[in-house]
Amino acid sequence: MMLYVVSTPIGNLKDITLRALQTLKSVDLIATEDTRHTKILLDHYGIQKPLTSFFDHNQSLKGQYLLGLLKEGKSVALVSDAGTPGISDPGYSLIQLAYDHHVPVTVIPGVTALITALTLSGLPAHRFIFEGFLPPKTVGRRKKLQSLKQEEGTVIFYESPHRLLKTLEDIKQELSDPCLVVARELTKKFEEVKKGRASDLMAHFSAHPPKGEFVLLINLTSE
Ligand code: SAM
Repeated sequence: MMLYVVSTPIGNLKDITLRALQTLKSVDLIATEDTRHTKILLDHYGIQKPLTSFFDHNQSLKGQYLLGLLKEGKSVALVSDAGTPGISDPGYSLIQLAYDHHVPVTVIPGVTALITALTLSGLPAHRFIFEGFLPPKTVGRRKKLQSLKQEEGTVIFYESPHRLLKTLEDIKQELSDPCLVVARELTKKFEEVKKGRASDLMAHFSAHPPKGEFVLLINLTSE
């Protein structure tokens, strides 16, 4: 009986550890956000395992089902669509449930977009704040940004391409047009890092409409 929390790639399928592959080959069942998505990874590595879905809207029912299997002595791997389960992804509730029922849990660490972006950004990494996705509505987003004014360090957000320009506008207004880094399509063919003030990046992404997956990093370290 063991719940394995397994990190998978965020783009390049080679970014997976030997332990992750070994674990995915050895478990009885893989619980994943999207079975079709995970199947691509498994097929790439010739792994054939039963898959079951575990996502935000079925997590309480599915959690009980998975707990039942674990208690019968089965081993389950938890993966997400990309990166590390629980990081802006479902996962936390199953891990908590396992602990509550004395099911052993272990982690197979690996890639996550926030650390990959921070590493590549060249921004100070000795202190950072990860905010996940900003609120989708302008009022909530601006309020969150205002609350960060007093912070020190590098602030990291995940953002979708269709909200990028609005978010850059709010960052410009609320944080006095700070310098930031936009990291796009990390580990993939069109990986790109753009640096500049929010206003410069707005001009860039107005001319080159944003496509793909994005991480925003703002340097709030005082010089
Ligand atoms: N669990 C994942 C992790 O460990 O990073 C994050 C999942 S979250 C639902 C998805 C968001 O992560 C995307 O909208 C994007 O902001 C960021 N992301 C994931 N993969 C990325 C990549 N290859 N390049 C840039 N950002 C990425």
